[in-house]
Amino acid sequence: MRFTRIVLALGVAAGVAMPMSAMAQQQDFSKVEITTTKLSDTLYLLMGSGGNIGVSAGADGVYLIDDQYAPLSEKIMAAVKAISDKPVRYVINTHWHSDHTGGNENFNRSGAVILAHENVRARMAKGQDIAAFKMTVPPAPAAALPVITYSDKASLYLNGQTAKIFHMAPGHTDGDSIIYWPEANVLHMGDDFVSGMFPFFDLSSGGKFNGIVKAVETALAISNDKTKIIPGHGPLGSKADLQKFHGMLVGVQKKVMAAKAAGTTAEAWGASNPFADLDAEWGQGFIKTEMFTAMAFNAI
Ligand SMILES: [Zn+2]
Repeated sequence: MRFTRIVLALGVAAGVAMPMSAMAQQQDFSKVEITTTKLSDTLYLLMGSGGNIGVSAGADGVYLIDDQYAPLSEKIMAAVKAISDKPVRYVINTHWHSDHTGGNENFNRSGAVILAHENVRARMAKGQDIAAFKMTVPPAPAAALPVITYSDKASLYLNGQTAKIFHMAPGHTDGDSIIYWPEANVLHMGDDFVSGMFPFFDLSSGGKFNGIVKAVETALAISNDKTKIIPGHGPLGSKADLQKFHGMLVGVQKKVMAAKAAGTTAEAWGASNPFADLDAEWGQGFIKTEMFTAMAFNAI
């Protein structure tokens, strides 16, 4: 009896831990194709499944911004090979989520050094819940962890370009970085910008609404009309896309603050469907309007 109970308890625990890996397993990665878009002499955008990958390739070698899911590593390596015969020397993670760090272990084993904000390493090392999706992500193996971390900013001087890495205030998570290449005028936003869809505030990882607004304002300040902006998800964007995204976020923020000032309860807020007008344009992505409505209320 006691034995059965222990097994059941373990079963429940495994069930809780399963969704993330189950989601990855459910997806048929054999069907995913990696597409390559050239952004400058040395910078490329790779899209497959998961977070958009930035690639710098030149005389000094190759480095990546994010590396999607582990089952895609071989395809990503093949796409990189088509750009350069040089090795992947570094991977920078924009934040800890598995759709951006899933390839870390494979790239580390093939010789790359992983770097990220210190909170990325901390959350990956201890394992992490994502309450919004009822997910429990187990601790990552040591080989998947960033081995160089920074608390505020870092720079890479490779391939004749400067990659300026800036940690942002807690927004999508508390370990978000954006990467800017001033010489090429290219910016990678991680999940502080997703094009044409509502963003995700991962409250379990210290995410906050205002942090995304602030990150977008930082990005707007360093961008001009020619800046190529890589979003965490969705197609390549421009400063105009970022401005539109910012306008939507500020409008949402005002509405939530007014509702809270008027004493609106979370239930009444959700029932009022306050963002019905945004649904067609922003609510068709990963985060649906209903979820965004509740999330924004909790994140502000
Ligand atoms: Zn993310």
